[in-house]
Amino acid sequence: MKIIVQKYGGTSVANISKIKKIASNIKSLKKDKLNLVIVVSAMAGETDKLLNLINSISKIPNGKEYDNIISTGERVSSSLLAMALMEININAITLGPEKINILTTNTHMKATIQSVDTKEIKKFLKKDYVVIIPGFQGINNNRDVTTLGRGGSDLSAVAIAGAINAEKCELLKDDVDGIYTTDPSLYKRAKKINYISYQEMLEMSSLGSKVLQSKAVELANKLDIKLNVRSTFNLEKKGTIVMNEKEIPTKEKKIVSGITHDLKQAKISIIGIKDTPGIASKIFKPIGEAGIVVDMIVQNISTQGETDLTFTVPKEDVNKTVKILKENKSKLTYSDLIKDEKIALISIVGAGMKIYTGVATRMFTALAKAKINITMISTSEIKISCVINKSACKKAIKGLHREFNLG
Ligand code: ASP
Ligand code: MG
Repeated sequence: MKIIVQKYGGTSVANISKIKKIASNIKSLKKDKLNLVIVVSAMAGETDKLLNLINSISKIPNGKEYDNIISTGERVSSSLLAMALMEININAITLGPEKINILTTNTHMKATIQSVDTKEIKKFLKKDYVVIIPGFQGINNNRDVTTLGRGGSDLSAVAIAGAINAEKCELLKDDVDGIYTTDPSLYKRAKKINYISYQEMLEMSSLGSKVLQSKAVELANKLDIKLNVRSTFNLEKKGTIVMNEKEIPTKEKKIVSGITHDLKQAKISIIGIKDTPGIASKIFKPIGEAGIVVDMIVQNISTQGETDLTFTVPKEDVNKTVKILKENKSKLTYSDLIKDEKIALISIVGAGMKIYTGVATRMFTALAKAKINITMISTSEIKISCVINKSACKKAIKGLHREFNLG
């Protein structure tokens, strides 16, 4: 049985006329006797609306109740699409996570899918139904609804495609028609990428690209499922294929594939801490225990037994982090604490960095030419990230885009 999984994002199902248009596209696909499993996001803005309702009642919401509320956005859009299909005489049914046993970990608000039972899906496909599945959710051991973190419908699509051994997994979008070299809304010379490796896409998603959820890319890599990111309504456009690096045609390979930016980080510097064994562990242990994810860490060379330490955390956690450090001041003995929320994390990502040298120098020179000061640097096998002032973000993207001939 050849099955295609299609996932429609929030902007694709943003209103009734778009939902009807998708239904009619699906009807044309059915003419070719395709077996279709459709995963949908909530209508654009709906999840945020539900979040606002939650936040207006509770600052630290109960996870089970949170998930019960926030999962409803996808229930609405999936059933609207099912009804739109029925109206044009296509058999369609919504199968929720309780019906197809999308089992997840127990952690509410950021659960991960562990398994999907495909029996029911196959039963309806055989009866020539279009099967529609609300994305972003599953159930845990207690059979309570769980959600998969923002952008989690991508993960639903990949997990379902894997479980059902789908021939294709397509992620359809209305705001972009593929993965771009950089955010096209910030830099209009951004270009669509034809092929990108799982590793590069994973770095881009973790470093600020919002097109695909990073957990979804990770799972696609693990299961080796090719992802086709493309336009919902411009059907002739091919979009981008996210796939195994080895299979990408050589002429499509670049040293640097993309540039990402992340404005959601903040930087904290601890000045004048004693440079003794165990100090880093004393600083980061309580921060980690509070569930705060620390990203870049830079420690200066110590002079006269004292040093400075700078690190980044998500902006939403910066005040909590400062509070923890202040509470521990007597144990840590530092002289000053400085937070900076006006930063941008600019990264270049490319599998070519594994082979070519001098990429970092080119990045630093391009930033220097644009008179942009770098305050932190971190590298991995296929990425280089720099922290710069937020106001220089656009300029940095432009300079780097030119330097690496991405336009
Ligand atoms: N509706 C959820 C969100 O806005 C999940 C998704 O769209 O993938 O994050
Ligand atoms: Mg999304």
